[in-house]
Amino acid sequence: MDNLFRSLDTDRANVVWKWKLLEELRQSGLRGDDPRVERAIGNALAEGRPFQPGQPEWLDPNQFTEVLREPVVRRALEGDLVVPPTEFQEFSRAVEKIYTDLLPDRSGEVAGYIPTLKKAPPNRFGIAVCTADGQMYQIGDANAGFSIQSTSKPVSYAMALEQLGAREVHTWVGQEQSGGAFNDPRLSLDAAGKPQNPMINAGAIATLALVESGVEVSERFARVEQTWGRMMGRPPGFDHRTFLAERDTGHGNRGLANLMAAQGMLKMDPTDRDAPQKAAEFYFAVCSMQVDAAGLAAAGATLANGGVAPYTGERVFSQETTGRVLSVMGHSGMYNDSGRFSDQVGLPAKSGVSGNVMMVVPEKRLAVVTFSPRLDEAGNSVRGVEVCRQLVERFGLHPYKSLGTDRGRDLGSAADASRRALGGMPTPTLSGKVADPARPQVPAGAVSHRETERKW
Ligand code: GLU
Repeated sequence: MDNLFRSLDTDRANVVWKWKLLEELRQSGLRGDDPRVERAIGNALAEGRPFQPGQPEWLDPNQFTEVLREPVVRRALEGDLVVPPTEFQEFSRAVEKIYTDLLPDRSGEVAGYIPTLKKAPPNRFGIAVCTADGQMYQIGDANAGFSIQSTSKPVSYAMALEQLGAREVHTWVGQEQSGGAFNDPRLSLDAAGKPQNPMINAGAIATLALVESGVEVSERFARVEQTWGRMMGRPPGFDHRTFLAERDTGHGNRGLANLMAAQGMLKMDPTDRDAPQKAAEFYFAVCSMQVDAAGLAAAGATLANGGVAPYTGERVFSQETTGRVLSVMGHSGMYNDSGRFSDQVGLPAKSGVSGNVMMVVPEKRLAVVTFSPRLDEAGNSVRGVEVCRQLVERFGLHPYKSLGTDRGRDLGSAADASRRALGGMPTPTLSGKVADPARPQVPAGAVSHRETERKW
């Protein structure tokens, strides 16, 4: 404690200014409105004499010790978070640049099938990045609310897996790309009437039918909300207008529920003839939960962290479940453009027609969420896909496109050369040493700028 205290007591007044502590935490990626930071500082300050309005607040050594009892604050000040501060800042700066570059982009159309989406302000744009430790960077409309739509699907699948196990779940829903649009009635089900995967509408309806089945629907919905709340660190809202409109216009989804029920592929009470309609309505309600990019980024960070939520450290899903969810997001999360997205980005992601994209970067244990309502033809946010693409290219995050450069062999490929031109990884030599003719050798122990980039 002493060293940390001394390093922050820059005025040598035997106090740490609250603003100074917050600034130090901010540099590491922890925001002042992070619930853990607010709680830790709030509790510590409550032990001292109250400050006058307008008076700068400070912590004495005892209060500072109290703040350090919050593990994430201690780790942040010791430079021990999952993404080191310099890397987090570098990533944040890149996000800011991409945001600024894409802000004028007006291509694409907002979803027009229900009024709430049709009337959504089309130019909104927000990005949020959250790591497994809850380091958060956000820019633009990252706190603007939107209905979660299809981005609810991975979590419905996770809940079903946790409750029933993969074997049972996959007797009701498949694991393959559908090969068609997310709501295509001809391509959604296989020959036995089983939906192709949990990321298309039929699969999501079937999956939700497994979640807390047998329990009253309001209670089932509450558990879905609670699960999202556990991941995000705060409960989702609910977009009533979207729910009413989804329910009024959701004939296709009701049709899918009926088709599955007709073939015995929807888990339901067989004596309740309205059960397929109820299954569809449960799905509409789940799609209508309201979130923002910052909250969704924390949910994504939970997946990036193997199922442990960033703000509470609570295990929400097992590693096994999380792995399955990321796998299906990897092959079917981006509607009918999932194959191309996999080629260009190569990371698990899920999009929703409100204009959100949640991308998980497992290697870095973080998630990037964008919100921008204008969509491309597949239904993915135009700016959202571009953010993913540019970040992956800038930091070499595609899991299959940097192979061979860091395993002690210089393949001398064109891809390698282009990475080097972009300022990516140094080229390893046959001896396994990194040789970069463009740069002088760095003394042992020193961390070069190039090394920092390499981590991304
Ligand atoms: N509620 C929408 C539907 O079922 C979800 C659309 C989406 O985000 O993919 O049509």
